Amino acid sequence: MANGAFRVEKVEPVPDYQVVSVSLKHVKTGAHWLHIGADDSNNAFNVGFKTVPMDDTGVAHILEHTTLCGSNKYPIRDPFFNMLRRSLSTFMNAMTSADFTCYPFATMNRVDYDNLLSVYLDAVFFPKLEEQDFRQEGHRFEFAKTEDANSGLKYKGVVFNEMKGAMGSQNARFMRALGANLFPTSTFHYNSGGDPTAIPDLTYEQLKAFHALHYHPSNARFYTYGDFPLEETLMNAETMALNQFEAIDVSKLDISDEKRYTSPVVAEVSVPRDSVVNDPKKTSITSTAWLMLNNVKDDENAKLDNFALSVASDLLLSGPQSYFHEALLEPGYGSGLAPGSGYGNSRRETSFSVGVKGVGEEEIPIVEQKIQETLEKVAKSGFPRNRVDSTLHQIELDAAAVKPNFGLMVGIGTMSTWVHDGDALRPLRTLELARQLQEKLDSDPQYWQNLISKYFLNNQHKVIVRARSDEKYDAKLEEAENKLLKEIESKLSEDEKKKIVEDGIKLKAAQDGEQNAELLPTLKVAEAVDRSIKKWGSKEQTLRLSSNNIDLKLQVDEQPTNGVVYVGAMFDCSQLPDRLTPYLDYFADYVDQIGTSKVGYKDFAEKIKGVSGGVSIDILSNNDTKTPLKWTENGEVVMNIGSHCLARNADAMGDILLDVCTDAKWFGDDERLKFLIKRRSAQLGASVAQNGMGYGKAVCASKMTAAGELENRTGGLPQVALAQRLAKAEQAGVEEVKAACSEIQSLLLTPENVKRCRVASQAQDVDAGKAQLAKWLSALPSTGSKSSSSSSSSADESVNAKLSAFTPQSGSKTYVAIKGQTNYCTGAIETVGYEHPDAPALFLLSQAMSTEFLHREIREKGGAYGGGSSFVPSAGIFYFSSYRDPNTIETIDTFQKACEWASQPNSITKTMVEEAHLRAFKSIDSPIAPASRGQSLYAQRMTDAQRQNFRTRLLDCKAEDMTRVAKEYLLNKPMTVCIVGSEDKVPTDDASYECVDAEGLPFTKVSTA
Ligand SMILES: [Zn+2]
Repeated sequence: MANGAFRVEKVEPVPDYQVVSVSLKHVKTGAHWLHIGADDSNNAFNVGFKTVPMDDTGVAHILEHTTLCGSNKYPIRDPFFNMLRRSLSTFMNAMTSADFTCYPFATMNRVDYDNLLSVYLDAVFFPKLEEQDFRQEGHRFEFAKTEDANSGLKYKGVVFNEMKGAMGSQNARFMRALGANLFPTSTFHYNSGGDPTAIPDLTYEQLKAFHALHYHPSNARFYTYGDFPLEETLMNAETMALNQFEAIDVSKLDISDEKRYTSPVVAEVSVPRDSVVNDPKKTSITSTAWLMLNNVKDDENAKLDNFALSVASDLLLSGPQSYFHEALLEPGYGSGLAPGSGYGNSRRETSFSVGVKGVGEEEIPIVEQKIQETLEKVAKSGFPRNRVDSTLHQIELDAAAVKPNFGLMVGIGTMSTWVHDGDALRPLRTLELARQLQEKLDSDPQYWQNLISKYFLNNQHKVIVRARSDEKYDAKLEEAENKLLKEIESKLSEDEKKKIVEDGIKLKAAQDGEQNAELLPTLKVAEAVDRSIKKWGSKEQTLRLSSNNIDLKLQVDEQPTNGVVYVGAMFDCSQLPDRLTPYLDYFADYVDQIGTSKVGYKDFAEKIKGVSGGVSIDILSNNDTKTPLKWTENGEVVMNIGSHCLARNADAMGDILLDVCTDAKWFGDDERLKFLIKRRSAQLGASVAQNGMGYGKAVCASKMTAAGELENRTGGLPQVALAQRLAKAEQAGVEEVKAACSEIQSLLLTPENVKRCRVASQAQDVDAGKAQLAKWLSALPSTGSKSSSSSSSSADESVNAKLSAFTPQSGSKTYVAIKGQTNYCTGAIETVGYEHPDAPALFLLSQAMSTEFLHREIREKGGAYGGGSSFVPSAGIFYFSSYRDPNTIETIDTFQKACEWASQPNSITKTMVEEAHLRAFKSIDSPIAPASRGQSLYAQRMTDAQRQNFRTRLLDCKAEDMTRVAKEYLLNKPMTVCIVGSEDKVPTDDASYECVDAEGLPFTKVSTA
């Protein structure tokens, strides 16, 4: 193909996924190319390189970043981020894995595809890799105040900060220790992202040498997917890049199997402590891991074993009925499974690990013993066939559910084996291997027993990692870094100091300088964007419940769901007593996890797994679309309960929904609830350091709108605090939860409370879906039939009354102090809602402000991992945020400056408007899975007319509209602020901040001086 530049090596149809694969080789360089032809317009591309660093400097990761800082054809500062706004891509990214680096994108637009191909190929094969880019993205010395050589020497750099954030959690540190000990000698031993203590060792020369060796067509894997013709893409790749290379020998990048231990190894390590812990005596982790099989070799037995081990991992670890759940979690040895537990087959050699976190010192040996005993038990008796079938059913259901990013996922999933010359089609073999496993189990009754013996019990490459948590872990690192910097600083000559100042000023100037983005290709909104919305043709019908003569509003979405049926029903929470709202999330979490009066929770979990995709429950608060900032009778608080299944299981799925809603066993199994409460408190405690931005936004919204206040109570930091309190209260906590949840169940789940329901499926399965909905909903106890024993009294304030009485405190400032070295800043301003004529201009403004101002100020200059602004029309709130930020109050000032910038008449140019439009439509028109088409009408009540109005106004929006709304709604308006940040950045000298800890209690900084 492509005039002989490529040779087709193999064509293989994959009927399981209705695609055809073509494997090709680039004749001159030996580059590999895999094309997956599919009837799918979301076309994907990926180019990957085997990258095998042998240290912790993060060279592969820093190279991934600097590669995107300008190339021969596009010699501008930041082509990647500029393309984000000149394209309608449905995905653009770059990622560094342990043994490969890849650059994927996806788009539905042909012109866009060629544009992105040109930019990506030029970036990876012809990057400028200038020293200044290395210093910006990697690491550099700078003074705290760039111009002031007496303000203290600091390390700066995007990757340096990113990895400080990424490694700032107990989970991340533990996983790293596990990997390092499991792989004592190979590339997997090292932190490919970079360890902040080692990153400063990397030199610019090493970076360039790493590029020359690794980023060459001879070491490249190209992947294409979708319905665009292959020939054209090959021709483009040939002329844009490949014909300029000769083959090189890349065999020195080959890696061999890890050196095997001859006897088990024990490693003792220390890790940071989670921001919130329940029991300070139980903060250790122990995990046992085995290195298993070569995932790359062309060996049929190994391939089947590999798949079987992933099935075994599911049976051993997933759900309350699993073996390790019974052996480790049920007896209460820890707060949850250790990070990384499960089968890992995304590396060249696979591994399995299992253990617990939140474990007490004296329990560590018991846990390790239990792990051994459990495996011995399975090695003796194997797994029951019906449980294997349930797991295989989940695999079948997952493969059937159509995903809009399927091609992209395959393209990323293939790299880990393909870069080592393993089977490139591995992500598409799943169903085939499932059938093979069934056959194997029919013919070999000892298969599981032998598998477990071979890979676990008789495997000497076994590592036990015991991690003790250290409250001062991050503080010690910080101290060591500061000490090192002081030492370095003391040895600097005046000339060296002057050079650091000059380099810093030079870099700042370069970051501030105009870049000629016109060099990059771009789409034109007028040509690429449709003026009309996509209509999904949702049908409004009624569903009659004959048993109680109720007509329910039913939405039917006929869509190509590939044999999967989706049902859901929305229950109105507005009349519930408000005192129950903190427990709504408990109810949603637990109702399908506690069994029923007839079936214990383990068997019930197994039953759900055998026939459905599980029960999903969401709590939604929808504002009045006309006045989102003010709660009116058009606002709603609803709970959606739904499920999905293969059409053949519709009947069984209906039974499950019915059992969950009428028969959940809140009383009689306190141990189970105690377990669930403890697990939740641990999970939420660990989430604070990683989800700081989400929590910060929720705090801001809670000060501004009634719905925001409710959402914060049901899912924000108050939930973290409630979880800790309930777990500490032990039996009293159990009593509190079961009383509240059973009350929610009896008051909420009645046919009268159903506001609307929905079926989404192919046309031939709609009736089956409707029948299941009717069976389920008509069997719910009707309000009229209920005995008056229910404890709700008329004195209770209802959810609706509480929402109506809300008084906003816009402009308030909160600082949430957490352990850790990184910060998340959020600012929020009241604006207008979705239906207001100015909403599209605000939406567009948020896009322009992010890319034209905040990205530069917060990421490039401030050193944060990310930052930007967003407009949430359904809430009427305009947000600013930063993510993994070394700064706090300074960033809030930047938010204010962004408003000033946007209000000045000439800040926003025509080009910016065009680019903001592309960005906006990229998110509005992103591909939607068939099952989700019509979902916005069902969940948010967003009509086609509203969507069309918004779209038309958005397309007609001009620069002056954006400047006007910036001035009218943002400039000098009260900004509600929340910073989730490190304890030592608490603004002690600024009385306008209310300082609290992660549980919402007042926080006072203890002086350590
Ligand atoms: Zn990165």
